Amino acid sequence: MSFRALYVDQQLENGAITVHRAQLRTFDDRTLDDRVLEPGDVTVDVDFSTLNYKDGLALAGRPGVLRRSPIVPGIDLVGRVRESADSRFVPGDRVVLNGDGIGESRDGGLTERAIVRGEALVKVPDALGQHQAAAIGTAGFTAMLAVLALERGGVAPASGDVLVTGAAGGVGSVAIAVLARLGYAVTASTGRGDTEADYLRELGASSIVNRADFTEAGRPLQKTRWAGAVDAVGGVTLANVLAQTSWGGVVAACGLAGGSDLPTTVMPFILRGVTLAGINSVEAPRALREEAWARLATDLDPHLLDTMTSTIGLQDALGAAESILAGQIRGRTVVDVH
Ligand code: NDP
Repeated sequence: MSFRALYVDQQLENGAITVHRAQLRTFDDRTLDDRVLEPGDVTVDVDFSTLNYKDGLALAGRPGVLRRSPIVPGIDLVGRVRESADSRFVPGDRVVLNGDGIGESRDGGLTERAIVRGEALVKVPDALGQHQAAAIGTAGFTAMLAVLALERGGVAPASGDVLVTGAAGGVGSVAIAVLARLGYAVTASTGRGDTEADYLRELGASSIVNRADFTEAGRPLQKTRWAGAVDAVGGVTLANVLAQTSWGGVVAACGLAGGSDLPTTVMPFILRGVTLAGINSVEAPRALREEAWARLATDLDPHLLDTMTSTIGLQDALGAAESILAGQIRGRTVVDVH
């Protein structure tokens, strides 16, 4: 018996990647079966992984994601429990794992078989199939964490328009679909309005703006436009979004697709009471994971999820890595590992 996995082997010199090899490999089952499960470990027969921006970085040999080598990449997995040293799981349970260091500091989901920590594992809600849970993946989970942050900060549909940046990407697409279904008026900011406007409207965006509107440095306080925002872009974009957020608004910072800096001032915070809510899906505690997945089962239209999802094979993930880094992938990409 054997299983297949993507495998990345790389070497670093003075912080730079000097050697990078990513390939599909076949492993003897014994590589995992001979390992004694630590208390809390769960062996999973993986059905699907997904391709996220971070996976693109890991597979393409860009720095910033992999903390170990060699490693199986893939920050998501959906599968069935094979063996469990965690009393919360029994063989056959349908499970999903997002983050928790898989595909970064421990072996990840781009494989047919994995050993993961039960502490971060969530049972797939009954209303969702395995492929749907994968389609949601880290991007959708992150989008839901951002929506929960807006809600906790008191941003309700009646509060006013909400903005989603990086709209046609994975986080953005799910954020739009969920927010629109909850009754928010959603403005989508995209650099691909010429090709993706219909798609974004179908997800529920009521208006679409060009992301170039946010990329020039602006004044610290600007005309208020947003009751809240889900930002996947960071950088000058996030600074402008903060400067345009209304009194008491909440901006959930999820990503850095446009840069990791934040050239802002304290003005939006001290003069408008704006809250900048940080979103970290990787280390989200168990209770928050379960809350977010329960909400994804009820607040995301499964038909819309289908329209934003494409499925590729394990081997194809290597080529798709460059496409996601180039911002050319729409919505979510599921990887069928078999
Ligand atoms: P995607 O690549 O699917 O989407 C990112 C989107 O950002 C693109 O589709 C594009 O949207 C926009 N974009 C890309 N490059 C630029 C740029 N230079 N300037 C402005 N906009 C840009 O990635 P995901 O949706 O999976 O992830 C989005 C971000 O969130 C990433 O930075 C990722 O690392 C981060 N992330 C963080 C998580 C967390 O736990 N905090 C978890 C998951 C993701 P468009 O074409 O519509 O303009």
